[in-house]
Amino acid sequence: MSISSAEGKSVVIIGGGPAGLTASYELSKHNVPAVVLEADNIVGGISRTVNYKGYLFDIGGHRFFSKCEEVNKIWDEILHGQFLERPRLSRIYYRNKFFFYPLKPKNALFGLGLWEAMRIVASYAWSRVNPHPKEDNLEQWVSNRFGKRLYEIFFKTYTEKVWGVPCTEIRAEWAAQRIRGLSLTTAIKNALFGQKKPKVKTLIDKFHYPERGPGQMWETLTEMLRERGYPVMMERPVVRIAHEATKVTHLVTHGPKGEEKFAGTHFISSMPIRELVNALDPPPPPDVHKAANSLRYRDFLIVSLIVNRKDIAPDNWIYIHESKVKVGRIQNFKNWSPAMVPDSSKTCLGMEYFVFENDELWTSPDDKLIEMAKREIEQLGLAKASEIEDGCVVRMPKAYPMYDADWHQQVQLIRHWIEQNIPNLQLVGRNGMHKYNNQDHSMMTALYAARNILGGNHDLWTINTDEEYHEEAKAAPATIEAESEPKRPAYAEPPRVPKSGASEFSSVKSAAAPATAALVDPRSTK
Ligand SMILES: Cc1cc2nc3c(=O)[nH]c(=O)nc-3n(C[C@H](O)[C@H](O)[C@H](O)COP(=O)(O)OP(=O)(O)OC[C@H]3O[C@@H](n4cnc5c(N)ncnc54)[C@H](O)[C@@H]3O)c2cc1C
Repeated sequence: MSISSAEGKSVVIIGGGPAGLTASYELSKHNVPAVVLEADNIVGGISRTVNYKGYLFDIGGHRFFSKCEEVNKIWDEILHGQFLERPRLSRIYYRNKFFFYPLKPKNALFGLGLWEAMRIVASYAWSRVNPHPKEDNLEQWVSNRFGKRLYEIFFKTYTEKVWGVPCTEIRAEWAAQRIRGLSLTTAIKNALFGQKKPKVKTLIDKFHYPERGPGQMWETLTEMLRERGYPVMMERPVVRIAHEATKVTHLVTHGPKGEEKFAGTHFISSMPIRELVNALDPPPPPDVHKAANSLRYRDFLIVSLIVNRKDIAPDNWIYIHESKVKVGRIQNFKNWSPAMVPDSSKTCLGMEYFVFENDELWTSPDDKLIEMAKREIEQLGLAKASEIEDGCVVRMPKAYPMYDADWHQQVQLIRHWIEQNIPNLQLVGRNGMHKYNNQDHSMMTALYAARNILGGNHDLWTINTDEEYHEEAKAAPATIEAESEPKRPAYAEPPRVPKSGASEFSSVKSAAAPATAALVDPRSTK
């Protein structure tokens, strides 16, 4: 297939997630022909919304928040009034009690009880007089600042669930970047004398959310593109990227119609860099190949449970700091939007598990995972197993690009090789750049890639690099930010996880492996 504009430009875009669709949207505004090739049978990528028997849920909850005015404008153009402003409540569940997150010192100290509070203070005092002389890893860094006991309660379990490695193996720089300026003295002072209100009113207590989940945004945009004559082709995994001396010439997909070729003058990719490099034909030099294959990911699966109960908790989501269960976080989707459940007398809980592709949980059959989730929800005392009337499982490979010790170097190597040898290919998005881009930054990279094709000269790699991104950074210095969706300036301060050579990384499945087949999504586009 080949399409071209009056100036002879034609763009082939890999991936129908926020980045790929945004690139096509921008090109459509300038009448440059573009086609999006999506491997899956649903758009939105990690920001999709799954529909299971009318119950809607995200791959983790997706808040819409951006400091980029252009992104806010695009979101408004797409959804108009269907964007809800939602109140936020998220708490930590520990020892059968709820603690506000971001932490509120009074609630934290009194909730833990006098004895535990004394242990915390004593262990903090001990850490001040006898700190770890070295601060190499997260455990040492946090214990030195908060005391060992507070570290064990509010940092250790959850961080280890998210990253799948002991805190002693996570480099101290990660903590230095993630955990901002809370000292226990300040916490106690705040507990006794109250806390100053943050000067900047931010979205910490509320967030934007499409009425029918993030997928509504991306499905609506797909429809808009199609109406403009910009195809979004489903089930078209790109398996080969053909290039010659100085440029990519065409892409090859392998879908239901067998092999198809897509030629163009420019190419934009949001597929994971590791797969992209492996699809290059001819292959790049061995060092580039090796760099790509050293990139690692943390994967994710969600077990959604339909509970025969109207209300379970007022939270949008709950962090589970109990080590007796594997679940890391629980989403309560009807509190994101009432339209997420078809029957308001029921609740849909998303039990989130952070995994590695091909580990025991990842490969467990769905019915076993649902049984486990039911057991765990009962163990936590949030609902009875007998109240769960249905459930389903969605696996999301490569949910988190991992920043390990040489991640930055490897990405730089690949990036420079592409820029020098096949400059008509631009990398965008999250896994497309191996960068912790949220939806907005994924979109910005795509927007600027499209503008480069229109004649601009933007460096996509500077997006989401220096700026203070997330709302919590300013609004809540007293947070212990070990969220499952960590946000950070990318290059400056990566959370480094050492390479272990663990076998879970060696097996590479397609990033586009479809979600569980039993899912029904009448809104998915083909
Ligand atoms: C648990 C979790 C919570 C999150 N919460 C938030 C949040 O609250 N707010 C927020 O803004 N962001 C959040 N994010 C981040 C957000 O999901 C991503 O930033 C966004 O989806 C990235 O968009 P993308 O288009 O770059 O990539 P993706 O969403 O990964 O989309 C890439 C697309 O490319 C397709 N693809 C892959 N390989 C191929 C191939 N070979 N051929 C064709 N197509 C291919 C994939 O199927 C996919 O559809 C969260 C992420 C996670 C994991």
